[in-house]
Amino acid sequence: MRKFVIATIGILYSISCYAQGVERINMRRSAQWPKDYVTGKTMIEVTFENPDGYEYEIGLIRNAINETWAKYANIEFTNWERASYRQKGIRIRVINRADMSDEAWPHTNGLGTQLDGLENGMILNFIWPGYPSNISRNDAIRFTAVHEFGHALGLAHEQNRPDYKRNCNCNVAIEETKFKGDGGDGDYYVTPCDENSVMNYCNRNWNNWGRLSYYDVLGIQTIYGKNPALTPSADQQQNVTIVDDLGTGQTWENMYVVLGSDQRTLHVDSNNSRDAIQFFNKKRSVYYKVWCSTYYGSRLMQGYGDGFITVPENRSSAFEVLLVGEPVNGKATLVLQQIN
Ligand SMILES: [Zn+2]
Repeated sequence: MRKFVIATIGILYSISCYAQGVERINMRRSAQWPKDYVTGKTMIEVTFENPDGYEYEIGLIRNAINETWAKYANIEFTNWERASYRQKGIRIRVINRADMSDEAWPHTNGLGTQLDGLENGMILNFIWPGYPSNISRNDAIRFTAVHEFGHALGLAHEQNRPDYKRNCNCNVAIEETKFKGDGGDGDYYVTPCDENSVMNYCNRNWNNWGRLSYYDVLGIQTIYGKNPALTPSADQQQNVTIVDDLGTGQTWENMYVVLGSDQRTLHVDSNNSRDAIQFFNKKRSVYYKVWCSTYYGSRLMQGYGDGFITVPENRSSAFEVLLVGEPVNGKATLVLQQIN
């Protein structure tokens, strides 16, 4: 945790944080699909090389994409039928094979416009053994589609970013995933490195359970513009991200956070100085409890805090765990403060 600072500095911090966010999702810039110069909308055809027998799955995919990328950004995916001869746009082949070979791994054969008209540009596998066992088959199909369509819009893996290790935690070998399956690297970091991204292999929620993170939404809107049909009340769920940074004098910290009926853990140390977890769809006012144990000022220390946070309406937000004052007898007081 970092130390609690007076309100004015807190406000300055949150503004600078936001500004950084807009400056810099991991995208290959040249892979952006063109916008209609009159309407500003990006129209992309989606077709299937072999749709027969997959009408149900295609419906799931179409719905998942319309509830994510096409909902928040000014993008419309059209067609959704069989690919014609010399078909343009995103061309999907279903390879239903129960093995973990490179060919059977769901992937795209490029990023963004590299897929335009490319036969078998996106490979989907509805019976892939690599899906987590704790989600349904329908969810596996939907969540995978959201991730692969991220590639089709030009986004690379979040964990491929050069600033990944510094700003995000990742417990899988980055080199192993870097060239696995698809994608390649981006060169345009629209938002800060985002552990909750659907494009992050290391997200502890697999493909972020098919939901776009706060920065996924901000990033795709920065690139393709905001969907003008989005009314404020139709905007993103009230997801809450809790952030913990390693503070001055801290060697490591374990944090346990309860938010409403959910509980999660955070860990920071000198290798990963920031950890973040996302809680989905919280009420306007929600009760929290935070516990930490940390090595601080060359001694072991415990911290605790509780209270209510006010969750901003109709958008996602971020709160940071802060230390209030100085620890007394090895006990610290913690508080959550909104940073975004
Ligand atoms: Zn991928």
